[in-house]
Amino acid sequence: MNQTNEGQPELDIKVMLIGDQAVGKSSLMVRYTEDNFYVNMLGTAGLDFKKKIIRRGDKVIKVTVYDTAGHERFRKINKSYYRNVKGMILVYDITDRQTFDNFTEWMNSILENEQKEKSTQILILGNKIDMPEERKVLLEEGNSIASKYNALFTETSAKTGENVENAFNLIIDKIIQTEQAIADNKSKENSNEQNISKTKEVKEDNYQVSKTDPDNNKILITNNNETDKLKLSTEGTQYSSGKKTKKANCFCY
Ligand code: GDP
Ligand code: MG
Repeated sequence: MNQTNEGQPELDIKVMLIGDQAVGKSSLMVRYTEDNFYVNMLGTAGLDFKKKIIRRGDKVIKVTVYDTAGHERFRKINKSYYRNVKGMILVYDITDRQTFDNFTEWMNSILENEQKEKSTQILILGNKIDMPEERKVLLEEGNSIASKYNALFTETSAKTGENVENAFNLIIDKIIQTEQAIADNKSKENSNEQNISKTKEVKEDNYQVSKTDPDNNKILITNNNETDKLKLSTEGTQYSSGKKTKKANCFCY
């Protein structure tokens, strides 16, 4: 692992390379982490990984790149490999049309897992752009399939190194952004919870909604002629104007 003088990594980001055999997954991993290219790359047995420490903005990040093999024939990834992987890099070979046409099967394999890991970022990567005369897949085709799936897209050459670092940075930056947004949301929720002075279960019989203000997530309810102004928690709440609430966790303010 490259050691830096920049202190301990603040973030630990795992990305995984998937795609058909011989598209250049292992070569991309080696180019990115070691800035090297081996002409006779041995077929990857099972799962291999390499690490690299990088700096993005003011953050020091440990990036772990997982390489896969032995799955290519089935276009399925063993689910246990997905654990904690924040980014999937789906690689095809721009000189081999079939590797692009198999895209849907790879995408389905990712999306099955997405049910659980909603925040996984996807980068679609056309590799081997050092062979433009052999090109069988247009740049625009890659671009348009990526936008269809709301994924990132770029093209690289593991052989010359062209655009490899940029490609990894593209997905790493997106992961950082997403993780930051999730963390911000969590801290907002936490501070909301601290504001709750009194949590009540509002039962149908006791409370009558007299006014709703859904935009601000507030309601006025009447409880045995006593009017409380309540702020509803976001989940599990059902209410409507002039009708009794079914159930709401709320607090007075
Ligand atoms: P994997 O099976 O997807 O891991 O693919 P490999 O990294 O083993 O590469 C398969 C073959 O493609 C090897 O012969 C590599 O040398 C070659 N290769 C990988 N990337 C490139 C590239 O960007 N350009 C060219 N010309 N060949 C590449
Ligand atoms: Mg390989």
